[in-house]
Amino acid sequence: MNGHTIKVELSTARKEKPQSDQLIFGRNFTDHMFVMDYTEGIGWHDAKIVPYGKIALDPSSMVFHYGQTVFEGLKAYTKGERILLFRPEKNFQRMNISHDRLCIPHIDEEFALEALEKLINIDQDWIPKAPGTSLYIRPFVISTEPYLGVAPSRHFKFMIILSPVGSYYKEGIKPVKIGVEQEYVRAVKGGTGSAKTGGNYAASLKAQENADATGCAQVLWLDGIEKKYIEEVGSMNIFFKINGEVITPALNGSILDGVTRNSIIQLLTYWGVPVSERRISLEEIYEAHKAGTLEEAFGTGTAAVISPVGELLWKGESLLISGGETGELSQRVYETLTGIQNGEIEDPFGWVREVQNEKIYV
Ligand SMILES: *Cc1c(COP(=O)(O)O)cnc(C)c1O
Repeated sequence: MNGHTIKVELSTARKEKPQSDQLIFGRNFTDHMFVMDYTEGIGWHDAKIVPYGKIALDPSSMVFHYGQTVFEGLKAYTKGERILLFRPEKNFQRMNISHDRLCIPHIDEEFALEALEKLINIDQDWIPKAPGTSLYIRPFVISTEPYLGVAPSRHFKFMIILSPVGSYYKEGIKPVKIGVEQEYVRAVKGGTGSAKTGGNYAASLKAQENADATGCAQVLWLDGIEKKYIEEVGSMNIFFKINGEVITPALNGSILDGVTRNSIIQLLTYWGVPVSERRISLEEIYEAHKAGTLEEAFGTGTAAVISPVGELLWKGESLLISGGETGELSQRVYETLTGIQNGEIEDPFGWVREVQNEKIYV
């Protein structure tokens, strides 16, 4: 894949951009997309940036039947003329880790980042500028070989699409109510929970539907064997603050290694806040709540960055956390991380990557 050039075909009909206060997550897409193909015996080839549009696939393409697919999610921000990415190399690294699990050939991480930067440059006018807005980036790979056998595909497509997104929170961050899922599980050790692959999300829909019915915004997932230990919340990682200590479930093979999770662990350590990655049971949370030592809880992920948990529903019992308000630490983590991401706060970690602004395609 190294040494590949990226062919560029610019769109002749530019779309109208949505108003920044009317952006709905994942509904609008920019004028261009990146596409690259994989063919066994040749490798990754034909890297190109083309007008955003439909792709033709054979109905027998393997992705439609057995779900051999991987995706990623990250964001670009503008600060004046600067275009900033947050730890994008982590996403392409994780993509290859997911590829290993799904029998998909590795992509060249550096080349993928180069392709992404070129695509962002071309569509840079699509990065919304209002506070809290950003350009959501969705790299993904699908298996395209026309074949109904259950086997690794020999053809793939790697694509990157871009979507301007609004502020996740219109009026500052707001705590949500979450419900403990008792019946369904998201993933088990040895399964695909630590890979970002479509099937995990298809498998989660039923539980989310149940959560909706009980007025909960998200599902709290427990481990798949004993249904005792906490794993994740919705498609976010989760943190608890108990008696001054921050605890997040350890990466155990069924939890996704979130970039936000990793960044928050580093940030808390930098601040001198005690943080531990370990197994944590729901019982422990319940006892801490009873003892009055459960101080805060929050979910973490690229889309919302921080999603405070104000209420936890378990077996018909409701546990109020931080009095249903956003906790002090949750707020501080949110402000610092989003400040670093959009270039307003100095980045002591070297996380922010500035996209070389070429402006040649605009
Ligand atoms: C993407 C994702 C996360 C969050 O990862 P980030 O890199 O922080 O965006 C957490 N859990 C699941 C299941 C995910 O799919």
